Amino acid sequence: RARKRFGQHFLHDPGIIDRLVRTVAPMAGQKLVEIGPGRGALTYPLLEQVAHLDVVELDRDLIHLLREAVPEERLTIHQADALRFDFRPLAGDLKLRVVGNLPYNISTPLIFHLLEQAEVIGDMTFMLQKEVVDRLTAAPGTGDYGRLSVMVQYHCQADYLFFVPPGAFQPPPKVDSAVVRLTPHATAPWPARDPVYLGKLVNQAFTQRRKAVRNALKTLVEPDIFDALGIDPGLRPDHLSVADYVALANATG
Ligand code: SAM
Repeated sequence: RARKRFGQHFLHDPGIIDRLVRTVAPMAGQKLVEIGPGRGALTYPLLEQVAHLDVVELDRDLIHLLREAVPEERLTIHQADALRFDFRPLAGDLKLRVVGNLPYNISTPLIFHLLEQAEVIGDMTFMLQKEVVDRLTAAPGTGDYGRLSVMVQYHCQADYLFFVPPGAFQPPPKVDSAVVRLTPHATAPWPARDPVYLGKLVNQAFTQRRKAVRNALKTLVEPDIFDALGIDPGLRPDHLSVADYVALANATG
């Protein structure tokens, strides 16, 4: 039986599983980590491509099944909460390729937890609630663009890969799903002097997303700073680019 509190919706559509694994296209010698392997829907096909896999799973019963099916030299099972897991020691010389059909109730904090360790991550391919993928990959000026888009795109290239209907899972979730690829920037295209302050500024801007940005940010940014940076202060917060937010943060923080 699937455990609701662990967000367990198991993939069972072979076409979707195959597409996801082909999208990851794991190559021999790469360091792969799967978050939430569950009953192994992705784990087994991934193990056909690589000699060894690390997985992080919370549910003891599922770990049992995996342990019985795959020998230790091929599969290292970390029984842990992925939200607290330190991925850095797994990396060694090679960056990690992270894969997962994530529990949707923890997907946003998990992405932020992984971004804190972005220096050891080559890329991440995740199945997520489609609405979250839309926000992760949104461009300025679109309805889905917000705090999550800016903060994730500050760290990563975010690409929408493909749509997945509820019927691909057992039991089917109530929402549509999609697969996203997040690729941490090797060097920051717009380095923020103080990323924590950047987060604060972006947060403040989007709590008042219907106001002009000059008003939404009036406690943090003097009006003449917009002119100096060439940013129209009459724009709404959802029309500023990631580069604009970094420029505002670097000029004021
Ligand atoms: N990968 C499998 C599949 O595609 O069929 C299972 C996906 S299911 C959506 C999510 C999996 O993540 C479950 O196996 C669940 O037990 C596990 N999980 C839930 N919360 C977790 C956490 N905090 N840390 C690690 N694994 C977790």
